[in-house]
Amino acid sequence: MRKINEIFYSLQGEGYHVGTPAVFVRFSGCNLRCPFCDTQHENGVFMTDEAILEEVLKYPAEMVILTGGEPSMFIDEAFVEMFHGVGKFVCIETNGTFALPDNLDWITCSPKEGGKVVLPGMDELKLVYQGQDITPFESMPVRHFFLQPCSGENIPETIQAVLEHPKWRLSIQTHKILQIK
Ligand code: SF4
Repeated sequence: MRKINEIFYSLQGEGYHVGTPAVFVRFSGCNLRCPFCDTQHENGVFMTDEAILEEVLKYPAEMVILTGGEPSMFIDEAFVEMFHGVGKFVCIETNGTFALPDNLDWITCSPKEGGKVVLPGMDELKLVYQGQDITPFESMPVRHFFLQPCSGENIPETIQAVLEHPKWRLSIQTHKILQIK
C-alpha cells in the first residue's frame, strides 16, 4: 500500500516536457519543509498498486509523472516496472535526497535548501531561483538546466539570471497561468 494524495490528468506545466499530457501520481509526504512549498500533499489515502494502476489507466497519456511530496521515499523498481508493463513512460519529480530506482525514464530534480542531492545523474535540473549563486549547479551531471521564478514573483530577476548564465533556460509554471492543475 502506498499513500497517495491524488491522481489526476493534466498537462505538464513546467520544464522540459511543458505542454505534454500526463497522468500525475502525487504521493503524500516529504522529508523537507520548504517555506515556499505550494503543494498540499499531506492528506492521502492508502492505495494498492493495482488500484493506482487502474486509476492511471483511465487516462490515455503515455506519460506518468510521479510527484509529491517526495515520491522517491515511496517507490521501488517493481512499482516503475508495473507502468512499463502497460507501455507508460515514467517520470519522477524529486528533491534528489534519496536514491532512485534504476528503471525510471526521466528524472527531474529540484534541489532544495537543506536537502543534499545524492543522485549520480538526472535528465533535468529545475531550480527555484531565489537570487542564489547558480554557477555551482552547472557542474552537476545534468542534461537540461531550468531556472524557475519563485512562486512567479521574481520573473525579471530570473530572466536576467538566465541571460547571464546561458546554460540555463527559463521555466515558467504555465499551469498556473493557464489555471489548470
Ligand atoms: S521538497 Fe518539494 S514537496 Fe517537499 S517541502 Fe520542498 S517544495 Fe514541498
